[in-house]
Amino acid sequence: MAKDYYKTLGVEKNASPEEIKKAFRQLARKWHPDANPNNKAESEQKFKEISEAYEVLSDENKRKVYDQTGQVNFGSNGNEGFKWQDFSHFNDFSDIFDDIFRNFGGGGSFRSGYGGRDTRQLDLSLSLSISMAESYRGAKKEVRYKRTIDCPNCNGKGFEGNDVKTCPTCNGTGQERVVQQSGIFRMVNVITCRTCNGRGYVGSTKCHVCHGSGKKTEVETRTIDIPAGISDNTQFVIRGIGDQEGGQTGDLYVLVNVREESGYRRSNYDLIVEKEVAFPDVALGKDESVNIFGEDIKFKIPAGTQPGEAIRLRNLGFPHTRGTGKGDLLVRIKVVVPKKLNSTQREIIEKLSEELNTKHSWFGK
Ligand SMILES: [Zn+2]
Ligand SMILES: [Zn+2]
Repeated sequence: MAKDYYKTLGVEKNASPEEIKKAFRQLARKWHPDANPNNKAESEQKFKEISEAYEVLSDENKRKVYDQTGQVNFGSNGNEGFKWQDFSHFNDFSDIFDDIFRNFGGGGSFRSGYGGRDTRQLDLSLSLSISMAESYRGAKKEVRYKRTIDCPNCNGKGFEGNDVKTCPTCNGTGQERVVQQSGIFRMVNVITCRTCNGRGYVGSTKCHVCHGSGKKTEVETRTIDIPAGISDNTQFVIRGIGDQEGGQTGDLYVLVNVREESGYRRSNYDLIVEKEVAFPDVALGKDESVNIFGEDIKFKIPAGTQPGEAIRLRNLGFPHTRGTGKGDLLVRIKVVVPKKLNSTQREIIEKLSEELNTKHSWFGK
């Protein structure tokens, strides 16, 4: 074996993919050239070696070939070997870079220089309108949205095959300089090379599926679980289903609007409804029921309930979206006065009035 990749990463021959990844991450942090400003030459060499080892051992097929033959050819010109810029397709590189970033305070050009992307740029958002009943009970809602993903044919590279050459625009650095003129000021920005998308190399055969863009747009249909209790204007995030680029995937932000529904009002986690009742019902008390989004809920009106008073039914409000428990259902009592009376009713009420006004005060004084 020309090179012992296992030894390079310090793992056993039968190491699991997780162990290999872990070993690589540790070494990559240690040996990244930006983390070793005083020792650039050696760290570059080391970084190149561990990257090459990881490129092979992290790929099931390449690892198999390597285990059997002791070597793996890269590209059509295998003698050229591994290019150390050539790792933009490693999914986990960006977070390794993030770590290095945090630890060593590198500049923004670093990420773009190595094909890393700010995944925030890959985030998508959509808004969703639900009924109050759906927010009360929770719902499953189907959403459709457009997302851009890496072309599956070329893995987002834009070219097919292994015939690659150093990018003529950036000479392999993955970065290009753009000059912006703003009034009398000239600003030079370093951005991700647009020719090679930060890879540092380009292929000679354009991908026949994406025609070189490396991208594919698809319409995604997803069923989203709306948790019960969600209130109007709430945003939540579903990780990993946004746009995809260079193997990284953004998130989907869903803004939920709850439509108003006549007869129902929400206050924090409480649900407030109104119930119309006749005077004798509040005076004498009564078993009643109230319809909550299609379901009858029974409750008792205690004798002597006052107009406008709210009867609190515990734990029948909106479920808490954080933690457990529910708000309450408040049934506000509206006493309805009849607009017309027949003779019998009139007689009875006159009697009642007389009784209340003479023997006892109406107000109980
Ligand atoms: Zn380039
Ligand atoms: Zn393609």
